This record gives sequence, C-alpha cells and structure tokens, in this order.
Amino acid sequence: MDHSAETSRHKCAACFRQFNKIEHLVDHMRTSFHSPHEPTCAVCKKHCRSLDSLREHLIGPLPKQECKNVFDMRGCKFCLAILDSSYSQRLHQERCQFSCVNSGLLARLANLGIRDGSTAIDGGRTRGSGPVALACKYVGGGDGSLDVCAKVCLIDESENVIFYSYVKPTIPVTNYRYETTGIRPEHVRDAMPLKQVQKKIQDILYNGGEKARVLVGHCVEDDLKRLQIGYPSIMIRDIANYPPLMKTSKLCNSLKYLAQVYLGFEIQNGVQDPYEECVGGMRLYKRMRSQVHRIEHHPMASDPQNKNNFAAWRESELERMSPEQMLEISRSDYYCWCMDLRI
Ligand SMILES: [Zn+2]
Ligand SMILES: [Zn+2]
Ligand SMILES: [Zn+2]
Ligand SMILES: [Zn+2]
Repeated sequence: MDHSAETSRHKCAACFRQFNKIEHLVDHMRTSFHSPHEPTCAVCKKHCRSLDSLREHLIGPLPKQECKNVFDMRGCKFCLAILDSSYSQRLHQERCQFSCVNSGLLARLANLGIRDGSTAIDGGRTRGSGPVALACKYVGGGDGSLDVCAKVCLIDESENVIFYSYVKPTIPVTNYRYETTGIRPEHVRDAMPLKQVQKKIQDILYNGGEKARVLVGHCVEDDLKRLQIGYPSIMIRDIANYPPLMKTSKLCNSLKYLAQVYLGFEIQNGVQDPYEECVGGMRLYKRMRSQVHRIEHHPMASDPQNKNNFAAWRESELERMSPEQMLEISRSDYYCWCMDLRI
C-alpha cells in the first residue's frame, strides 16, 4: 500500500479511483453515494457497485491478483465472502449453496389443473407478516406478443405455497407459449377469473388489512401492472432492479443467472414454473437481507436529515477532509435490504 501524501490524498477511500485534483475527488464523492452497504472486497476493502463487479475483481476476467490469490484459497464462490481458513471455506461453501427446487413438487403443481380437477392451491397461510414472493406465467394474446397472465404463485419465506393458481385469460389466447409455460387450453379454460385472483393476492399482500407485507420478485412491478394490482413501492424488493444484483453495465440480470452464480442452483430450462421463480427470488432476497453491514444514523442519502449531506458543507471544508472523512459522511442512494431485519 502506498501511503505517500501525494498519491493517497486524492484516492477515493471506497472505490480507490485516483484523482489529480482534490476538487475532482470531491465531485466524485458527491455523486457516487459510497456506503458500507456496497459489496466490498474482504481482502483490500475496495467497494464495488455490484456483486458482478466484485466477482470481476476477485475471479476475473481481469482480477486484482493479490485479492484473487487469497480468494482462491479461502473465498466462497457464491456469496464472495472470505473465510478464515480453507477448512472453514469448505464447510461454509457447502452450506452457502442451495439445492435445486423440489422437482416432485414442481411436477405436482404443474399438473394441478388436469390431475385433480382443481385449479388452485390455497396454502391456507394467507395470514402472516413475513415477506412473500410472487411470480406469474404469461401466455400470448393479440398478435401473440401481448402478455396475458395465465398462472400465478405466491410463497412465504419458508418456501411454502400460499397461493398457486391458473388464471382465466382476460382476452383470447393466440399463443400458449407451451415450450416455456407448459400451459395448455384445458388448464385455463375454467380457471379462476382475474378479479378473484386480484382479490386473493391483495388479501395476502395486505395481510387482511393488518400490516402490508414485503413483496419480492423479479421484475415484480411488471407482474403487478399486468395483474392490475397497485402496491406501494416502499414494500417492493425487486431482484431485477436492486443495484448490488445488477450487471456492471447497470442492466438487469436474469433470475436464472443470479440463482446459478450467487446461490449455486439451477432454475429449470424449458418449461418454467412460477413456484421455482418465487423460490429463486425469495432465496436471493433472504441472502441479501442477511448481510451484516454497519448501519449509520439516517442511512439513506435521501433521508431528509441527510439531504445534500455534501452540499451542507462548504467546498473548502470538503477539500480539507481526508478521503476517509468524506466516505464517513457519504450515504447510500438505494435502500439496502439488510435494513429489513432492523425495522
Ligand atoms: Zn469512489
Ligand atoms: Zn446493508
Ligand atoms: Zn480486493
Ligand atoms: Zn458463501
């Protein structure tokens, strides 16, 4: 490490970018929203915007060699933590990897409509205060490109089915998209009408009027839009739009990729079941929620008490601060899910 005043003075204490002029570092700090909630290399303490960029830093294609060497010996390839020894790494990594979703259950759910004539599973667990995950399957209407909801699933945080049903399409189906949905006309012909499904889902989300529940999903806002259900965005935890789970390019990652890379299990190819997608989403949510981060007072840059916490300082005061002091007053621009366990 280089401690000479010249080079360390203008180096960001979080992402290690270097700036020729102190005012450029100040500008950088104003707009980068560094915080203890960012994925951080356990070796060199570099903050990364996403787990994908931390992976690039540790694993490659262009890793930082010193960090890669430590990671190769005792890093967990799923959660990217570094353990004390290669022995504890092995124990940890075994527990860190999730097993595949129960395929027997999947088959039973998929055959629901034809097998026993019923079209819905009501897990009888409608009431509860924990998070729920939602996923839908769509068939095609109109010219085939319109998404029409034909199947919906909600699970609780222990992966129990709360509600699982085919949905009667609201417009004529022109393409069942059978290869990926596994849905046939006979599944949805007498299925539950959308109105009833909406009511059911709202009842679960609002816990029968008690306290609204956290809703987890992948692009779940799109699901809600297509189901024509409104829900407050502060209650939504979207796997697709959560900065630590996004690509370095800031685009969304697929659920399949995230489950495979960060949880170590495969989501089926071919026919996709919403139960499996709910499980993938819930496991990712819980993994992110379980992270242990230092929590500051007013952890969000958007907290009123914090608004413009950089703007509250004079430029000359900021320029006299050390990079560490600037990092100390910097706050996150997204809500980190670790805070869900502290409410
Ligand atoms: Zn930085
Ligand atoms: Zn956090
Ligand atoms: Zn590192
Ligand atoms: Zn791990």
